[in-house]
Amino acid sequence: GPVPSKGYAMFSADGDFKPYEFERHAVGDHDVLIEILYAGICHSDIHSVRSEWGGSPYPVVPGHEIVGRVTQVGKDVTKFTVGDIAGVGCMVNSCGECEMCRMGEEQFCTQGAVFTYGSKDRFHGDAVTQGGYSNNIVVKDAFAVNVPADADLSRVAPLLCAGITTYSPLRRADIQAGDKVAVAGFGGLGHLAVKYALSFGAEVTVFDITEEKRDAALEMGAVRYVNVKKEGATKGLNSTFDYVLSTIPKPYDPMMYVNMLKLDGEMVIVGLPAFAEAPSILINRFIFSARRKVSGSLIGGMPETQEMLDYSIAHDIYPDVEMIAVDQIDAAYDAVVDGEVQFRYVIDMATMD
Ligand code: NDP
Ligand code: ZN
Repeated sequence: GPVPSKGYAMFSADGDFKPYEFERHAVGDHDVLIEILYAGICHSDIHSVRSEWGGSPYPVVPGHEIVGRVTQVGKDVTKFTVGDIAGVGCMVNSCGECEMCRMGEEQFCTQGAVFTYGSKDRFHGDAVTQGGYSNNIVVKDAFAVNVPADADLSRVAPLLCAGITTYSPLRRADIQAGDKVAVAGFGGLGHLAVKYALSFGAEVTVFDITEEKRDAALEMGAVRYVNVKKEGATKGLNSTFDYVLSTIPKPYDPMMYVNMLKLDGEMVIVGLPAFAEAPSILINRFIFSARRKVSGSLIGGMPETQEMLDYSIAHDIYPDVEMIAVDQIDAAYDAVVDGEVQFRYVIDMATMD
């Protein structure tokens, strides 16, 4: 039958987190039940629960950077056994049959992927999904990744969203040693993008809006750190980069970054500001901009998510995290918006009664 669950939910766009008890769907033949150990706080959680991307259903338990221990498996599950460590990211199901799903790009399922929270689960009576700021989750085995038990579990959770979202476009770009890569927005996603790009041999420049992250960027291995707020326009860097990855969650001028690309260079955008303040590119400026390409990228598919996890652990690429207790989530949200976290909050779910 249904699985009782408890977590922390927002009940309106401007409220606080409160304890919330609810039910997960029963553990089906292809499902696993995971006892959640850690949940990362992604800026997407904040955009979502504050209804900055259009309406959100309430109550909503956010969280799509999840790591935990498998405590029950359905009879057809071969990928996990009880006691294994599993990770869950932004999706929990998809049709499995369309061209996108067969390509392993389930996030673009033509019928619509079921996202980890705030999403109607058509496979379970249209119940709205609830995320990882909770003690457990039930998920189809194909949407959980295998995590080796000797990985640093307290730092694995953010890989499930911030990791795959930056690894996927950088992989697709086939970054070569010596390529000049810029990462715009040096937060949860951005600092992982820097680590991946460096691991591919790129020469990395970081753009952010604070002095407080300069040392961390240079220590991580970036060759240059630009405080856009202080140093202003970056004309000296026009036509410099092969590749730009923007993770910026606030309004900004995308053309400033497009102009820093070389001929035929590419800018990939993953940062998704509130819809009300989303920046845009004027086509007249774009047309005259040396054939530079701009595209978007949405997380990554499940096979690539497993690849990213294996790669990260093999190369010792983990996020820099600050551990918090469940009663610190509200304060953590404000700190993320104010740019005070270096670089990802992770909630220790064992702090929940
Ligand atoms: P964070 O808040 O951790 O990081 C954002 C960083 O951008 C911060 O360092 C912030 O600076 C910096 N920043 C803000 N404004 C500017 C600016 N004008 N120029 C340069 N840097 C700036 O957020 P996340 O990394 O968690 O998420 C980033 C975005 O990516 C969000 O919009 C999120 O929703 C989106 N996202 C998209 C996904 C996808 O699949 N496409 C998946 C996951 C997230 P400071 O610290 O100084 O405030
Ligand atoms: Zn996320």
